[in-house]
Amino acid sequence: MDKKLLEPILSNDHDQVAADLHRHFNFTLGRFDTDDLSGYMMTALALTVRDRLMERWRITKAHEQGKRVRKVYYLSLEFLLGRSLGNAILNLNMQDSIRQALSEFSADLESIEMEEKDAGLGNGGLGRLAACFMDSCATLGLPVIGYGIRYEYGMFQQSFKEGRQVEQPDHWLIAGNPWEIERTRHTRRVKFYGQSEYYHNDAGELCARWIQSQDVLAVPYDMPIPGYKNDKVNTLRLWKAAATDEFNLQEFNEGDYSDAVAQKNLAEQITMVLYPNDASENGKELRLRQQYFLASASLQDVISDWVLENGEKFEEFAAFNCFQLNDTHPTLAVAELMRLLMDEHGLSWDDAWTITTKTMAYTNHTLLPEALEKWSVDLVKELLPRLLDIIYEINARFLAVVAHRWPGDVSRQQRMSLIEEGSAPQVRMAYLGIVGSFSVNGVAELHSKLLTTGLFRDFFELWPEKFNNKTNGVTPRRWLAHCNRDLGDLFTESLGTGWKTDLSQLEKLRDFADDAEFGQRWDAVKRKNKERLRDRVIQKCNVEFDLDSIFDVQVKRIHEYKRQLLNILHVIHLYDRITRGDTEGLVPRSVLLGGKAAPGYALAKLTIKLANNVAQVVNSDKSVDPYLKLAFLPNYRVKSMEIICPGTDLSEQISTAGKEASGTGNMKFMMNGALTIGTYDGANIEILEAVGRENFFLFGLKVEEIPEFSLHNSPNDIIENDEDLKRVLRLIECGHFSMFEPGIFEPIVQSIRNPMDPWMVAADFRSYIDAQWSASQVYKQKKVWTKSSILNTAASGYFSSDRTIQDYARDIWKI
Ligand SMILES: *Cc1c(COP(=O)(O)O)cnc(C)c1O
Repeated sequence: MDKKLLEPILSNDHDQVAADLHRHFNFTLGRFDTDDLSGYMMTALALTVRDRLMERWRITKAHEQGKRVRKVYYLSLEFLLGRSLGNAILNLNMQDSIRQALSEFSADLESIEMEEKDAGLGNGGLGRLAACFMDSCATLGLPVIGYGIRYEYGMFQQSFKEGRQVEQPDHWLIAGNPWEIERTRHTRRVKFYGQSEYYHNDAGELCARWIQSQDVLAVPYDMPIPGYKNDKVNTLRLWKAAATDEFNLQEFNEGDYSDAVAQKNLAEQITMVLYPNDASENGKELRLRQQYFLASASLQDVISDWVLENGEKFEEFAAFNCFQLNDTHPTLAVAELMRLLMDEHGLSWDDAWTITTKTMAYTNHTLLPEALEKWSVDLVKELLPRLLDIIYEINARFLAVVAHRWPGDVSRQQRMSLIEEGSAPQVRMAYLGIVGSFSVNGVAELHSKLLTTGLFRDFFELWPEKFNNKTNGVTPRRWLAHCNRDLGDLFTESLGTGWKTDLSQLEKLRDFADDAEFGQRWDAVKRKNKERLRDRVIQKCNVEFDLDSIFDVQVKRIHEYKRQLLNILHVIHLYDRITRGDTEGLVPRSVLLGGKAAPGYALAKLTIKLANNVAQVVNSDKSVDPYLKLAFLPNYRVKSMEIICPGTDLSEQISTAGKEASGTGNMKFMMNGALTIGTYDGANIEILEAVGRENFFLFGLKVEEIPEFSLHNSPNDIIENDEDLKRVLRLIECGHFSMFEPGIFEPIVQSIRNPMDPWMVAADFRSYIDAQWSASQVYKQKKVWTKSSILNTAASGYFSSDRTIQDYARDIWKI
C-alpha cells in the first residue's frame, strides 16, 4: 500500500474549503449565481465535507485491507440519523475554516445547517439508538458496519388540523441525498415465494434448494459515518429494492406495458416506506418482506466478501464475523444464515448451526406484549417457503433439547416452542432470536432483569449464560458538543477537551457545583438555550413561553405507557388551581409536549387532540397567563430534539414502571443539565443512582408494587378519594375542553377509570402532583436548582453510547 494513500490529501484550511465550495457550487451543481444560494449552498457544503470523508473512508478501508480483523454487522430496520452535515463538520474539526469560507458568500453555517432534511429512517428510540451506536463505533475505531433499509419515505411528517394529527409523507430524498454513494457492483438477489426442492447431490447427500422464486434485487447505498477527530469513517449500507432485469421481458415483448411496470413497482414497493409503528406490530406482509430483504441482502453481502477472501472455507467464519440484531425485526437472519450456509455453500446442518449460534447476538427492546413479533406460519410458508422448513427443523431440534432437560414437561415445551399453536399458528420471532444467538441482551438493568424473570424466564433457566445487560447510551457529540455549543465551550474551558470522547470526565464538574461564578455562567448558557427554544415554540405553536418559568418538557412517541396523559392531567390540575385563585406558592411553568402517534393508534391520537384543546383553553385565559402555558410542538424529530434538550429545565420520564425498556431521551436531557421527574423505570433508575435521590424527582409505584396495589385499589375509588383528581376529571367530562365536540374525550376518561387500567394513571396521579410541586419549590431556590443541574450533567458520563459500545465490544463482540 502506497503510504501516501494512508493520509488525507485535501487541506482543511479555509482557502481550500472556499475553492471547493465554489467548484461544487459551479461545476457539480451547475449554479452560477452566488447571490441566490437557496438550497444549493447546503449541498455544495455537504459535497465539500464529503470529499474529506471520502479520503478518510478510503484510509479506513486501506488499514483493514489484508488484515484479518473480526467485524461486527449491526442489522437494524431503522437508523434515525437526523441531519449529517453539522455532525460531520464537528467530527472532522472543520467548523472554523468553514465559517471563514462561508463568510465569502455572506452565508452563515447555522442557517445552512438548518436547510438539511432529517434522515428520518426510524420511529423513535430504537432507530436513534442505532444511529448513536454508529457514531460511537466510528469514534472508537471499531470495525462495525451498519446494515439497514433505504426507505424512499421516512417517518411521516406531522401537522395538526383542529388539534388533530394529520400525517404527510416524508419524501426526504426529493432533493437528492449528498451523503450516499450507490454501489451497484455489490447488488444482491433476494428470493421470495416459490418452493423448496429436495435432491441428492453428486456425493449422494440429501440437499435442499429454493426454486421457482420471484427475485428482487437489493442495491446498496453507502453512507459514510465519521468518527470524532480520528480520521476513521465507517460504513452504513442501506438497501434499496429494484426489479430484476428479466422481471418484465415477456410481458414487455407482448406489449403489456402496464402489467410489466406493475411487476416492477411490486419489487420496488419493498423499500418504499418505513412502517410508522413504535412498540407495536401490525403483521403486514410487506413488513415481513422488508425484514427478510434486509436479512438476506446483508448476509449475502458478508458471505460473498468472505468467500472472495477465504474461498469456500467456513471453519473460521464465526471467529471473524458477528451479527448484532436490533430487536426481532432482523431475526430471520438466523434461518437465512442456515439456508445460505447449507443450500448455497454445502455445509451440513450441524456445521451451519454451530456457525450461526456463534455469530448471532440479539437485543431485546421491549416487554410490551403487543410489540412482540409473531408471523403467521401460513404467510411465512407462502413468502419464504425454504425459511419455514428451516425454522421447523430448528424448532424440532430445540424442543428435543428442552425435552431432554425437563423430561415430560409438555407444557414447558409448548411454552418454549418457536411455533405458537392454535387455529392460526404463528412463528415467535423473539424465540427464534434467542435460540439462534449466543447472546441476548436487554437495554437497561431493570429491563434485563425483567426479561430473565418474566418474558424469557424459561430460556434463562435453560441458558443463563446467554443473558446480559447493556444499558443504552447516546452520543455526546450530537447530544452535547453539537447541539449545545455554549455548554461544550464551558466544559472545555473548565475541564479541557477530553470529555468529548471520555464523558466520565464530566465528573470533575462536581468541583464547580458550589462555585458561584461558575453557576452564573451555567445559568447564562441555559437561558440562552431557553431563548432559542422559546423562539422555536413561538414560531411553530404561536405560544410564548416566559424565560423565567420552568421549561417542563415531555417529547417522545405518544403511547399510553409513556403517559403523556398524566402530564396533561397535571396541567389541568394547575389550571384548575389557578382559575380557583389557589395560586399560593405556584411557580410559573411552561409545559412543552411533542411526539408522533402511530396513524392507527386511536387513543394516542386522541391524547394529542386533548393536549391541543387544553392548550387552547389554558393559553387564551388571561388569568392563567402569569402561571401556565402549554404547547404541543408539531413534527417532533431529531432536528427538534437538538434544540429542545439544551433548553429544558425539567425532563418528564413518567412511564408506568416496568414498561419503558430504557429510554434515551432521559439521557439527552440529563447531559444538558435538566433535572428529571420520573418513575422507577428503565434507565431512569440508573440515572437516579448516578445523580443521587436528592437530585431527582422520583414518584409512582414500583414495578413490584403494582400487582398488590391493583388488587386493593380501583381507579374509581382513587378518584372518589382525591379532590384534585376528581375536579380534573370533571373538567374533562363536563366538556370544558371540548365545547364544540361534546363527549369526544370519553375514551380517555374511560381508560383512566378502567378497573384494569394497565398504565396506572389514577394510581400515580397523587404522587406525580406532589413530585411536580417539589420540583417547582426547588426551582424557586435558584442556586439549589443550578447546583442540581450541574450535578446532573456531571453524573451523565455513564450514559454516553461510547460506554455502551465498549460494553458490547468487550462482552459480546470480543473486538
Ligand atoms: C431520543 C429520541 C427518541 C427516544 O426518546 P424516548 O424519550 O427515550 O422515548 C425518540 N425520538 C427522537 C427524535 C429522539 O431524538
